[in-house]
Amino acid sequence: MPRRAADEPRGSCVPPIEVAFPDLARWEAGNAGVPYVWTFASRAAGPHVVVQALTHGNEVCGAIAVDRLLDEGVRPARGTLTFVFANVAAYGSFDPAEPFASRCVDEDFNRVWSADVLDGPRESRDLARARELRPVIDRADALIDLHSMTDPCPPLALAGARAKGLALARAVGVPEHIVVDAGHAAGRRLRDYAFFDDPADPRAALLVECGQHWERAAPGVALESTLRFLAHFGTIGRAEADARLGPARTPAQRAIAVTDVVTIASDRFAFAFPVHGLMVVEKAGTLLATDGDREVRTPHDDCVLVMPTRRPKSGETAVRLGQFVP
Ligand SMILES: [Zn+2]
Repeated sequence: MPRRAADEPRGSCVPPIEVAFPDLARWEAGNAGVPYVWTFASRAAGPHVVVQALTHGNEVCGAIAVDRLLDEGVRPARGTLTFVFANVAAYGSFDPAEPFASRCVDEDFNRVWSADVLDGPRESRDLARARELRPVIDRADALIDLHSMTDPCPPLALAGARAKGLALARAVGVPEHIVVDAGHAAGRRLRDYAFFDDPADPRAALLVECGQHWERAAPGVALESTLRFLAHFGTIGRAEADARLGPARTPAQRAIAVTDVVTIASDRFAFAFPVHGLMVVEKAGTLLATDGDREVRTPHDDCVLVMPTRRPKSGETAVRLGQFVP
């Protein structure tokens, strides 16, 4: 029997791995002075758009999409286009017997994106890679950061807390659901780094959760989100995006504003009923979970459950609660 990571509840179902993990060694050299970073500039002026995969090492869908776009030789019609495979060390440690263990190496690469951490004394392999990539990010006018989720859930755009993030998610047009949120207490995400979170600065980022980590459909969501993002900025033509994807789908998007974060405080956290991502609990005051002796109840009517965990762990986020906004 394969050994499970200590924090994985025994017998919990690990979703099937339906996609192949590409060998990224051919991209290691890069062409911009940083390993696994490829930059291409057009003669025509335009914004610098960065497409990042593998912020989390086991979130392979973005790597599959970027590997394909690099392989096909996609180049910008205007401006500059940069592809980044971020936490390749974590990716390289993937073990199908412990598929959740390769999210990061030492610490979460997506909780270190504040000046006090990046400029501070802390050392870790993930932080070293963030410091190596920081000048690349500093040159970006726009960033799409490709992620996926532990548990099955419809794809989500995480727009951050600023109006420009929501406007960008709507301009890109996919995925259907947009989450307006301020991130995590544990540390700043790349999508909220510096100027991306400054309402007075036009530079903007979008994080896309493309589905469950290893589900067959996730790489297609990553590819579609990326190509629509590039077309929005004129990096590629809309006709090129349509030629690759078929005519643009225009789902009526729905935005969810996060109102509460439920953080697990005990070793006895349990939801009161089976939950799933984007489930709506109709009545305020409904018992949602118990956490030791604490009861967690829904704070308002039509409460949307954003990414509820199936692997509760003290100190981590159990679920974010939100409501649909116009
Ligand atoms: Zn992620």
